[in-house]
Amino acid sequence: MTQPSTVNPCPRCGQPGEMKKSGSNRFWVQCSKFGKDGNCKAIATICPNKAEAVAAWNKMR
Ligand SMILES: [Zn+2]
Repeated sequence: MTQPSTVNPCPRCGQPGEMKKSGSNRFWVQCSKFGKDGNCKAIATICPNKAEAVAAWNKMR
């Protein structure tokens, strides 16, 4: 599987995506304007590693 290393801009508002992490095996990307930082609701699914988290985010439309 190819590993995308670049986090695309938010598919909804165009702001950068931010890699988030919880513990050692829960990664996801959310919009930098997500929740309290803005009003965007773009958030990707939680994945066991960064590569999958980036892929999940980059697939969002
Ligand atoms: Zn956004």
